[in-house]
Amino acid sequence: MRFLHRVRWLFKKPRTLEEIFQKYNIQTSEAPSDCPDGWINHVDECFGRLCNLGWDRKLFQVKEKFGCLRIYLDGDDFDSVMQDIIHSYEDRSKQKCGVCGAYAKKDGINVARCDQHCSVQVW
Ligand SMILES: [Zn+2]
Repeated sequence: MRFLHRVRWLFKKPRTLEEIFQKYNIQTSEAPSDCPDGWINHVDECFGRLCNLGWDRKLFQVKEKFGCLRIYLDGDDFDSVMQDIIHSYEDRSKQKCGVCGAYAKKDGINVARCDQHCSVQVW
């Protein structure tokens, strides 16, 4: 089953946070997680790197705050390397369009949007 699980996600890109949680067998908390669609690949990549480093896959919450991604792990079984990775992804999310993930300029406290999606309301 584990093998099939891995093969399935080799050919499929998660499109929602829920699918990312399934892909990595992430144990979520009661806190609701949510983020703009344009950041899904970004979060997927971040979790992939954390799992490669031996993250215990316990997540407290993923959310957007002031136009920036926030990832909170649960428990205290993570080190400063993992924390640095999370911070770098949180930082880069400021320049990712919330609709498509392309490079974008951030305007105030809102989620960034690229030229093509500048009129689309996200978060
Ligand atoms: Zn866009």
